[in-house]
Amino acid sequence: LKNTEYDILIIGAGPAGSVVAQSTAALGYSVLQIEKRPVIGAPVRCGEATGTRDRLKDFGPINEDTIETDIQGLILHANGGQTIRADLSNVGLMLDRLKFDPYYAELGVKAGVELLTSARATDVSAVQNGFRTVSIVYQDTEHKIRARIVVGADGVETLASRWVGLKTRQLPPFICSAIELKLNLVDKDPEHLIFWHGHDYINDGYIWSFPKKKSQCTNFGAGFITPKLGAPNIREVADQWREKIYPGSVVEEVGGGVVPVSAMLEEYVSDHFLAVGDAAHHTNPMTGGGIASGMRAGLLAAAKIDAAFKSGDFSKGFLKQYQQDCLNTFGNNHLRELKIRQFILSLPNKDQTYFYKMLKVFVEKGKFAAALRHPLGIAQYALRYRNFKV
Ligand SMILES: Cc1cc2nc3c(=O)[nH]c(=O)nc-3n(C[C@H](O)[C@H](O)[C@H](O)COP(=O)(O)OP(=O)(O)OC[C@H]3O[C@@H](n4cnc5c(N)ncnc54)[C@H](O)[C@@H]3O)c2cc1C
Repeated sequence: LKNTEYDILIIGAGPAGSVVAQSTAALGYSVLQIEKRPVIGAPVRCGEATGTRDRLKDFGPINEDTIETDIQGLILHANGGQTIRADLSNVGLMLDRLKFDPYYAELGVKAGVELLTSARATDVSAVQNGFRTVSIVYQDTEHKIRARIVVGADGVETLASRWVGLKTRQLPPFICSAIELKLNLVDKDPEHLIFWHGHDYINDGYIWSFPKKKSQCTNFGAGFITPKLGAPNIREVADQWREKIYPGSVVEEVGGGVVPVSAMLEEYVSDHFLAVGDAAHHTNPMTGGGIASGMRAGLLAAAKIDAAFKSGDFSKGFLKQYQQDCLNTFGNNHLRELKIRQFILSLPNKDQTYFYKMLKVFVEKGKFAAALRHPLGIAQYALRYRNFKV
């Protein structure tokens, strides 16, 4: 540790924390970023799918080495044996997060961030004389480091927010358990993201198969709203579906974790503190994707931190605008997607099958064809959706 005091201390070196680190260091602030794991990005707890190259460009130069596949479409296997296929060009990317996460952390280091691995935050103090003090265990020694602003970028397992008194705990139905199996195969559609969803599969979640073209393997996974005790666990469920969908496939690695699917924490700023990414539940509640929104939140957090230094105001009241910025940028979409998710889940089997029948026409033939073929159905479901409360 070079100093005992920094402008900004970031806990966590996932994609969200690294964007804050890089962006604030580039503005000239002194930044310490700490990561409890010895190797950034490992082990991977992610399906590794994200948005387009155009979006990724906002976070720095793209490193082709971190990209596995350019996604050219989506396939959804839905209720009632229906398959909905959309062939599209460059709708997203498959990443290699073992390379992706370290790359963005390294961009920060190049901008001047002091980055420590195997360094675990164990506490964040109350504000004293305009600073928070973070306790860090690094090389078997406890260090006390002061910072004007502390950023909780410590992922879904966040404790930083709790240490400053924020309520981060969320129970079902706003938390998802997910398992990820790396399979030694590539689907016959090697550039499509493939999903299975609906009562026939995993109703309150989905199964996915995401191709990693360069590595010639597949991220196969399953996730559902964390069930009550006694329900089958997600590992068993994922394995059963793997055997049905890709019989005889070999599992090379197993990963997993939890995904916040609440659409956003109610409150994730405090005096001299803000949270980003999974720690703030910035994940998309329909897809569970959190890489892009976490990084986007990282940019918004950096802008607010800069404004705080310029105005000398580090109060919760001032930093709160950052929550509003997140809401305007992606949060309102997430809230809408939460409602769509809950609506689809609430449909009885027959109605869900009909919903996907309409969606198939809409996706494959266009909205006019859907309106012509299912005018009453669309009107009925639109009304039901409008009256539906999450
Ligand atoms: C099975 C699964 C599949 C997923 N699939 C996708 C997908 O396909 N696409 C997608 O966009 N998202 C996916 N997600 C979600 C995605 O992985 C997260 O949204 C994303 O990693 C969030 O980034 P982050 O920077 O907020 O947090 P993280 O990437 O979790 O980074 C937080 C970091 O903080 C560190 N940390 C925690 N506590 C401390 C501490 N006390 N001190 C120091 N360091 C600490 C952690 O070690 C970690 O490295 C998936 C998640 C799971 C579990």
